Amino acid sequence: MTRKLPTLQVSENTTASPGAEDLLRILDSLDAAVYVSDMHSHDLLFLNAYGRQQWGEPDGRKCWQVLQEGQSGPCEFCNNPRLLDAQGRPGAAVVWEFQNTQDGRWYQCRDQAIVWSDGRLARVEIATDITERKALEDALKASHHRVERLAYRDELTQLLNRRAFFAACREQLACLPAEHVFAVLLIDLDHFKAINDAHGHAAGDHVLREVARIFRAELRDSDILCRFGGEEFALALPGTSLSDATALAERLRLALHASPFAYAGQSIHGTASIGVAAASCGEVSLENLLKTADQAMYRAKRQGRDRVCTASAQE
Ligand code: GH3
Ligand code: MG
Ligand code: MG
Repeated sequence: MTRKLPTLQVSENTTASPGAEDLLRILDSLDAAVYVSDMHSHDLLFLNAYGRQQWGEPDGRKCWQVLQEGQSGPCEFCNNPRLLDAQGRPGAAVVWEFQNTQDGRWYQCRDQAIVWSDGRLARVEIATDITERKALEDALKASHHRVERLAYRDELTQLLNRRAFFAACREQLACLPAEHVFAVLLIDLDHFKAINDAHGHAAGDHVLREVARIFRAELRDSDILCRFGGEEFALALPGTSLSDATALAERLRLALHASPFAYAGQSIHGTASIGVAAASCGEVSLENLLKTADQAMYRAKRQGRDRVCTASAQE
């Protein structure tokens, strides 16, 4: 049985080795751009069929004129120096990812310095199109980000949720010195059911979002604010004394009291009852501190709402 052999040039010593034309054919068949450029003059010495289809013929142009857009000289990110060793000889290959400015597509580039046939140093790049993979990676990252947000953020207000609040507080308590104070506020909106009943659930949602915005505007980055549940918010203030926390609670209460919410042509007046508690980091149990703040908050409710109560010794 006769087998059809690939057409190869056969050298005189009868060892089959591809000739220049075959090598060009191989390069032109690749599903990746291959180019060679002079490392000093940047003259484009070779572009395979894939590259020519994308960027046209080299036509005596420089690599930065053919491959990139808006260049008036070698690219800022040109990595030619990285392809040479300390003695200026060809070094190891460099692999990197890059978004081409001509066609906007992402490529994985494998660059290597070689000595060209006339002795000059040339750069060979094999650029494989990874645009689809990149798009998939971006979509995965975005979805991961969304899932993370859902796990740690309250969807309505975008504040931390209860779980993230506990995690953030524990993180702070673990690294603060034992003698540092740690204060918490429990904030419960007053007669919120009545707001829903009078203006509708969507109006209630709007108020919750606005309350979060008003509170955030009053706080520092290190303060830990969360939507604790329903119409309740919790605020942890690492390093804040009971009296400073009480003063802040009063500011939050007043900010709310002074800003009626506009919704669908209606003006909604919202107030809050706030309980404040504090302890030193070394002694504090987060659950107990929240319980104490909760008791103070209920005292504020009993005393007529729209007020701040600081935890007493009994609580
Ligand atoms: P109090 O002053 O005693 O706290 O009265 P209240 O009406 O605020 O308290 P209550 O616990 O009786 O009612 C809380 C209301 O908050 C009832 C519930 O429907 C409403 N609520 C909880 N979560 C949401 C929400 O996400 N959106 C809206 N619109 N309402 C909510
Ligand atoms: Mg409540
Ligand atoms: Mg309430």
